[in-house]
Amino acid sequence: MTDFSTRLDKLAEVAVKVGLGLTPGQELVMTSPTDALPLARLITAHAYKAGASLVTTILSDDAMTLARFAHAPDDSFDKAAGWLYEGMAKAYNAGAARLAISGANPMLLSSQDPEKVSRANKAQSAAYKPAMMPIVNFDINWSIVSAATPDWAQLMFPDISAEKAVTRLWDAIFAASRIDTPDPIAAWAAHNAELHARMGFLNGKRFSALRFTGPGTDLTVGLADDHEWCGGSGTANNGITCNANIPTEEVFTTPHKLRVDGFVRSTKPLSYNGTLITDIAVKFDGGRIVEASATKGLDVLNKVLDSDEGARRLGEVALVPHGSPISASGLLFYNTLYDENASSHIALGQAYSKCFRDGGKGLSPDDLAARGANNSIIHIDWMIGSGEVDVDGVNADGSTEAVMRKGEWA
Ligand code: ZN
Ligand code: ZN
Repeated sequence: MTDFSTRLDKLAEVAVKVGLGLTPGQELVMTSPTDALPLARLITAHAYKAGASLVTTILSDDAMTLARFAHAPDDSFDKAAGWLYEGMAKAYNAGAARLAISGANPMLLSSQDPEKVSRANKAQSAAYKPAMMPIVNFDINWSIVSAATPDWAQLMFPDISAEKAVTRLWDAIFAASRIDTPDPIAAWAAHNAELHARMGFLNGKRFSALRFTGPGTDLTVGLADDHEWCGGSGTANNGITCNANIPTEEVFTTPHKLRVDGFVRSTKPLSYNGTLITDIAVKFDGGRIVEASATKGLDVLNKVLDSDEGARRLGEVALVPHGSPISASGLLFYNTLYDENASSHIALGQAYSKCFRDGGKGLSPDDLAARGANNSIIHIDWMIGSGEVDVDGVNADGSTEAVMRKGEWA
C-alpha cells in the first residue's frame, strides 16, 4: 500500500479533477474544518495547478462552535452569517466552483441545549439559502469530500486509540473514494459509466412510483411528473461536468411532494448538525409526515419537521445497493455523505431541479412546483434501505415490477 501522504495527495487530485472538474481561470470557494487543513492545502495546490484563478477557504472549528454554546448571549442563537452566504452566492453567480470538506464531529452539539441547537440550525438554514440555491439548481460545479478528524474517528472506533482510529477512518475514506486503485481517475470514469447505465434503465421505465417494503416499512413514493434519474457525474448549468459527492453510489430522483403514503422506518441513525436521531419511524399521508417518532433526538427531529411548510415532505428518493463498498465496510460513519451512500434513502425538504427532463432547464419555480417538486430551507437525507428492504417500480397502470430484492438490484 502506498504511503499516507501519496494517498492524501491522490484524494486532493480526485477532489479537484473528478469532484469539481475545475476549469482554468475558475475561482474556487472551499470550506474546511481546521482539523482537515492538510487535505485543504493539497486541494488548494491541485486547484492552482488546474488553473484556478483564486482559491478562497473559509474555516470552521469545533472548539469555536462549542465556545459559542458555552458563552454567547441568548440572542446569538437566532443569528447566522448571512453576509457570508450572500458573498458566497455572489461568487457562485460570477462563476466560482464550490468544494466542501466535511469532517466535523457528528456529535459535537449532542449535549447542548436542543432549543438553542434548533434555533441556530434554523437561522443557519435560512441565511444559507442564497448560497444553497445555485447548488441545488446545479448552476455551478460543486463537490463534497471528507477528511478523517480525531473526534469523528473516535466516535466510529471508540475502542482503539485516537491515532489508530484516525488511520482506520482514513483507510475507509480512501477505499470508498477509489483512491486505492492503480489509477483513481480511470476508476472513477468506470464507476460513473456504471451509475449512468442504472439511470438509463430507470429513465427508460418511467415508473410513476416506487414502493419500499421491509420491517416497519411499507412506503409508496410517487415520483414527480417529468422526473429524471440522476447519479454519478453530471454537467452543471455552467457546462462543467463534476461529481458532486466523493464518494457516491446513489442514483436519485425527485418524488412528488403530494404523493407519498405509508410508513417507513430508518435503517441507520441520522446525524444532524451534531445530534444523533435514532430509529426514526414516520407516517406519510398525501405526501406529508403526519406522525413521527424516534428513540433518540425526537425533539430535534420535531423541530426540523416544523422548519417550514416543505420540511414534512420529500425532496429526494435515492437507490443504493446494499452491497455497495461503503455498505460492505459494515461501518456506521455518522456522516450523511458516507451513510447515504451505504443505503437507499429519502430526503426531507428541498428538491433538486436538475432531476427533471432536460436537467430541469427552462422550468420556473412554479413549473417545478406544478410537477411536484418540493420547496424548503432544509434538505436532510435519511437512510431507509437495508438487506431486508425490497423496492418495486409501480407503472402508471398500477402494475409493478421488481427493482431491488433484499437490498440488491433485481
Ligand atoms: Zn442522496
Ligand atoms: Zn440528498
